[in-house]
Amino acid sequence: MLTSIKNKSVIVTGGSKGIGKGIASVFAKQGAKVMIAARGEAAAKQTVEEINASGGTADYYLCDVSNWEQVQALVAYTEDSFGSVDILCANAGTFPQKKIVDLTPDDWDDIMSANLKSTFLCVKACIPQFEKQGKGRVVVTSSITGPITGYPGWSHYGATKAGQLGFMKTAAMELARYNTTINAVMPGNIYTEGLADLGEEYLNSMAAAIPLKRLGAVEDIANAALFFAADEAAYITGQQIVVDGGQTLPECMEAVAEI
Ligand code: NAP
Repeated sequence: MLTSIKNKSVIVTGGSKGIGKGIASVFAKQGAKVMIAARGEAAAKQTVEEINASGGTADYYLCDVSNWEQVQALVAYTEDSFGSVDILCANAGTFPQKKIVDLTPDDWDDIMSANLKSTFLCVKACIPQFEKQGKGRVVVTSSITGPITGYPGWSHYGATKAGQLGFMKTAAMELARYNTTINAVMPGNIYTEGLADLGEEYLNSMAAAIPLKRLGAVEDIANAALFFAADEAAYITGQQIVVDGGQTLPECMEAVAEI
């Protein structure tokens, strides 16, 4: 049993859908006050209503995490609403697929902004809070794609997810003076709205390649994030954990078939 995060103030970027929604829901169930950041209002509003209806405390702030002014406003709004920002879950991200031959320089810049620059901006915007409070936590949602695996069409995406881990190593050193840790969860294939958009064939082929024989649930990622946010993880920083049902273990498809 982990020490409670009850009444802690948590920002979850991309908390309106998918993995972020899972993190928001699991943290709210533990008594945290959750601020959801996303661009689209309908899903953000619905998620907040669901959390509040089940006894949790949540609010949303519409924000593009690749925009510095909007990210600063998100942090200020959260402090005004909840009195502090104790935990940042830098989770928002997109995974458009395009092979290098078709990828344009603008496509490259767009995903760098959405996935990688956004991680830097969100961490930077929270530093004054962490400094003021004398402590803080950051949990980054990276991926197996990029740091460990490759998949055609995701060279730019994989670069952002590996880049988040590169950023994290030095960030962990710089945040230490604020008694703040930063760690990353590396999901495998987790069933979310975004993943479902990739189609049935993709989902089935992925499930078949996973030793535990199922796609991950958003709670699988949320529980790992919860550990990094708990007091018990206070001495862990700059680290990453793979949560993929064993997907990155097999040496070949035959190895999975033998299970
Ligand atoms: P999802 O279902 O598509 O949800 C993405 C969330 O991020 C939504 O709330 C979306 O809301 C928000 N978002 C996207 N771009 C944003 C922006 N520029 N500013 C603010 N919010 C933004 O995706 P997911 O599958 O849960 O993925 C979430 C994270 O997990 C991503 O970082 C992804 O790389 C990572 N991941 C996912 C998987 C997987 O299997 N699902 C595997 C490895 C890593 P709006 O569109 O309304 O802004």
